[in-house]
Parts: sequence; C-alpha cells; structure tokens
Amino acid sequence: MIDFNTITACGECCMGCKKKLEDICSGCIEADGRVPEWAGSGVCKIHACCKEHHAKFCGLCEKFPCEKLPQMISWNPNIVEHLKNLATQFRSEMTRGE
Ligand code: SF4
Ligand code: SF4
Repeated sequence: MIDFNTITACGECCMGCKKKLEDICSGCIEADGRVPEWAGSGVCKIHACCKEHHAKFCGLCEKFPCEKLPQMISWNPNIVEHLKNLATQFRSEMTRGE
C-alpha cells in the first residue's frame, strides 16, 4: 500500500531523498512547494498548480493530463502513465477504505 500523504504533486515521494535526510531540503509537501530546487522561481509550479486545482497530485486533477504537464515534468518521459497508474491506485485504496 502506498502512503499517499507522502506523494508529491508530481507523483514522487520525498521520503528517503538524500537532500531531505541531510536536511538540505525539508520536502516539498512540508515546505508547501518552496524547496531549494525551485528557489529561483520561488515555488514549484507543479505543486502550486495542484493546489490551485485542489488536487493531491496531478493524476487526480480534473484537467489531467493537461497539455503543459509533459513540459513541466520533462525529466520523466513516462509521467502521464506514471500519474495515471498512481491515480488508479489512489482511487482503488479509497474505495477499499470506504
Ligand atoms: S517537482 Fe515539485 S512537486 Fe515534484 S518533488 Fe519537486 S518540488 Fe515536489
Ligand atoms: S494536471 Fe496539469 S493543470 Fe492539473 S495540476 Fe497538474 S499541471 Fe496543473
């Protein structure tokens, strides 16, 4: 089972990240998107966009998969598939918990 409380807007998990373990970054959920990685622009745009759309992560957004997503998460060529799978797991866990 996935702990969805630790899943970030882009569908990653900060737990176990070297930067978090070394206290360089507190994690994007904890920092509300204001992480060192995005210090130049102030806040992670993906985190901010999910907040704006009231989505826990992009896969649960009403606009998913939006056209800007592949470019916003350019480091993962399989991002749409990854987020789609994550959303399926999330919904199935929510249904099981009802
Ligand atoms: S890209 Fe944004 S949402 Fe994804 S892990 Fe980094 S700060 Fe968090
Ligand atoms: S799917 Fe697109 S519109 Fe929705 S939160 Fe993600 S980046 Fe924003």
